[in-house]
Amino acid sequence: MKYCRFALVYWTAVMICCIFWLCGCSKKLPDQTFYALDTVIQLRQMEGATQETVRQVQQKVIELENLLSCHKEGSDVWRINEQPYEQPVQVAQKTYTLLQRAKEISLKTEGRFDVTIKPLVDLWDVKQAEKPPAEAEILRTMDWVGFPNLTLNEDGTVTRLSPDTQIDMGGMAKGMIADEVKTLLQEAGVQRGIIDLGGSITLIGEKEHGKPWTVGIKNPFQTGESYAKLSVADTSVVTSGGYERYFIYEGRDYHHIFDPYTGYPAETGLKSVTVVAQDTALADALSTAAYVGGKERALTWAKEYGVEMVLVDTDKKIWITDGLRDKLTILDTAFQMMEE
Ligand code: ADP
Ligand code: MG
Repeated sequence: MKYCRFALVYWTAVMICCIFWLCGCSKKLPDQTFYALDTVIQLRQMEGATQETVRQVQQKVIELENLLSCHKEGSDVWRINEQPYEQPVQVAQKTYTLLQRAKEISLKTEGRFDVTIKPLVDLWDVKQAEKPPAEAEILRTMDWVGFPNLTLNEDGTVTRLSPDTQIDMGGMAKGMIADEVKTLLQEAGVQRGIIDLGGSITLIGEKEHGKPWTVGIKNPFQTGESYAKLSVADTSVVTSGGYERYFIYEGRDYHHIFDPYTGYPAETGLKSVTVVAQDTALADALSTAAYVGGKERALTWAKEYGVEMVLVDTDKKIWITDGLRDKLTILDTAFQMMEE
């Protein structure tokens, strides 16, 4: 009798736990899509979010885009670019901090990642152009690119030291915005979900209790497909590649990630760089930097910064850091895993 009563209490408790667990799982918000940052933004499989949280995320993204986009009239970056050179420009603390981080990464990568890239971005105008600019123009423009042309003053202002230097945060702004969105969502009580800023993935928590998420990595030779998938949780997966934006001229393609050392789209034998790190702004900057720096430098920077990377070269060879070896599954057999 005593045993029966114990069993009843036990199974009732188990059932209550199951009901709570099932309810917890079903509190998923329908996937949300909106357009900002010149890309499609999605919040997927969000557990613990409400429509109000989504509205706050949208507001946050717009607010940060209005600070950091060089194309938004009145943004901090726009004002730095428009203010006559040598005159300090007051910017928001967030903009200043991001510029400090950009400078640190620029120093570390010996200028391969450099947000003063805008004169080259504009000259090449990859979105509209049909052919490369003249060599002389490229050489002239390269002089304006480089962090020494920009001063971050101690009072929080920013000064351009050359009239033609301009900044473009496109190589790391999306990452920083993803970090801010993640913080907002977690503070609003979200325990798990996927933030997708145009293919830059930030994961909150695990997919299910104890189970990782699966993130596909685009095949740079066939962008509708994934060449591999990663099983990871509570981290960000950011990929850079020359296949995103480009034009073709006389059989060659010219893309949107520039090598400040040559003035041309970076050609280092890499087709795609994926960085996995908690810090999405860092992952974003390093994926761009690594694409410019090439395989050897990329792997060195991965070690120095303590981030993980997956690199794919033009021969479909894959190079990977140790921390991801058991987390990557190759989906396309034409790709071949290499040993260090
Ligand atoms: P995407 O924004 O397409 O996801 P990236 O993060 O690699 O890809 O950023 C590419 C953008 O970064 C370019 O559109 C340009 O605005 C900027 N950029 C290009 N070359 C460099 C560079 N060498 N250093 C810093 N930013 C760069
Ligand atoms: Mg980037």
